Amino acid sequence: MGRSTYDFSDETVVVTGGASGIGRAVARRFGDAGATVVVADIRDEPKDEGESTPTHEAIEDGPGRATFVQTDVSKPADVESVVEAAREFGGIDVMVNNAGIYREASVVETPVDAFDQVMAINVRGVFLGCRAAARDMLARDEPGCIVNTASISSEYAQLGHTMYDGSKGAVMMITRVAALELARFGIRVNAVAPGIIETTFGTGNPEPPGGSEETFFVDDADVPAVDDVEITPEIPMDRMGTPDDLAGSYLFLASDDADYMTGHLQYVDGGYQIL
Ligand code: NAD
Repeated sequence: MGRSTYDFSDETVVVTGGASGIGRAVARRFGDAGATVVVADIRDEPKDEGESTPTHEAIEDGPGRATFVQTDVSKPADVESVVEAAREFGGIDVMVNNAGIYREASVVETPVDAFDQVMAINVRGVFLGCRAAARDMLARDEPGCIVNTASISSEYAQLGHTMYDGSKGAVMMITRVAALELARFGIRVNAVAPGIIETTFGTGNPEPPGGSEETFFVDDADVPAVDDVEITPEIPMDRMGTPDDLAGSYLFLASDDADYMTGHLQYVDGGYQIL
């Protein structure tokens, strides 16, 4: 059985968080399908070991074109710069809101600054990306697609995940509300919900406000620490996923094959959500 082939050669695709991990694989797969890809990330180089080439250069080795815009998705002005970059290529046809960070602490340990930072990137970033893409599509009268990166954490609670699961639950609901509001304009909004994927996710996060990673979290013996609980996630398919396992779902949801799908949360998780 082969892989589906898609033709996005007339389309401009924005991928936030496209410098590494899942976003990098998604950006490259759109590039392989001939798209013009705007890679938007806070860093301009790959984060993962073994990936020496920045994503936009890797895409240019294939049929697609690409450019890079240094972007903090939590900042409205940065997101506007991404729209302007996409306008150089005709405007946004597909918006992939994928950038995200992970922080872990029990609800009683979580500092407010940490909570705010996760929400700013994972939730405000997705909101700003959805808003900017929809405004661009409406202004040009060219309806397209939005695909957000949600998570199994959108619907399944895990220990230590107040910030992260809270943020991904919000991503799921932003996806659904945006789908509801934009359906009448022909703009489809869906989300991919990855399971446990082999990336360097959770490492190399941006410096937290007001301190280093080491000093960020309270270490108080009187409150329950999530580190004390062993978490053994069970994956029915008995392996972690790879970014490549996910990439095809983004292309599918952005393609005409999914033209009657909107507001959908597409699990790609090796069966994790069955349990
Ligand atoms: P990753 O760390 O490899 O990729 C995240 C990318 O986002 C990085 O390139 C990083 O530089 C970028 N980024 C971080 N903050 C940013 C900001 N403020 N503005 C712009 N870019 C920013 O991790 P990944 O696993 O590829 O994660 C991608 C998405 O997948 C995230 O939304 C994450 O929540 C989601 N996800 C990951 C997993 C997993 O197990 N790896 C599971 C479910 C969902």
